[in-house]
Amino acid sequence: MSKILTEVLGANAQYVASFGEKGKLPLPPARQFAILTCMDARLDPAKYAGLAEGDAHVIRNAGGRASDDAIRSLVISYKLLGTREWFVIHHTDCGMELFTNEVMSNLLTSSLKTASIDASGWHDSGEGPGCTEGKYINWLTIKNQEESVTEDVLRIRNHPLVPKDIPIYGYIYDVKSGRLIEVAAASKAGKAG
Ligand SMILES: [Zn+2]
Repeated sequence: MSKILTEVLGANAQYVASFGEKGKLPLPPARQFAILTCMDARLDPAKYAGLAEGDAHVIRNAGGRASDDAIRSLVISYKLLGTREWFVIHHTDCGMELFTNEVMSNLLTSSLKTASIDASGWHDSGEGPGCTEGKYINWLTIKNQEESVTEDVLRIRNHPLVPKDIPIYGYIYDVKSGRLIEVAAASKAGKAG
């Protein structure tokens, strides 16, 4: 068994031992809100936003971007599970700032193996085969965090399946301090109407 698999199953056994009353939690999130945020390993929404099991929905993807699938989850979160306020939280030093659609599709075309980065950019091992499918994907990369948060709040705000009365807050998480910093333009765009 892999080291990670052993560790994860061991940690789970400990979690089960102290699971307590959590088996009785209702399905809809008790505090009626949702967070869309990046999958970055340094971000722990339960800790940075004070969540316990059963409190809130957390939707994560690369960048915390308002992709079609993130919007699918948010619409379910409101329509079927009753959340009333949403956060879009991107962060400083996001990996999505380190490449473009072109860079990613070129790397994938040359090799599917893990690439490396140094001061001169991304490099591939070149070990084939690669694949050109990456050219047809919008990787939703980020140039500027304030812009990406605002753009995503706007996209959600203007989506025809999203009711106007849900406030959407836009924040950047600072990986150096753990602090959430409001993006005023995003929160303004996300104001409930
Ligand atoms: Zn990120």
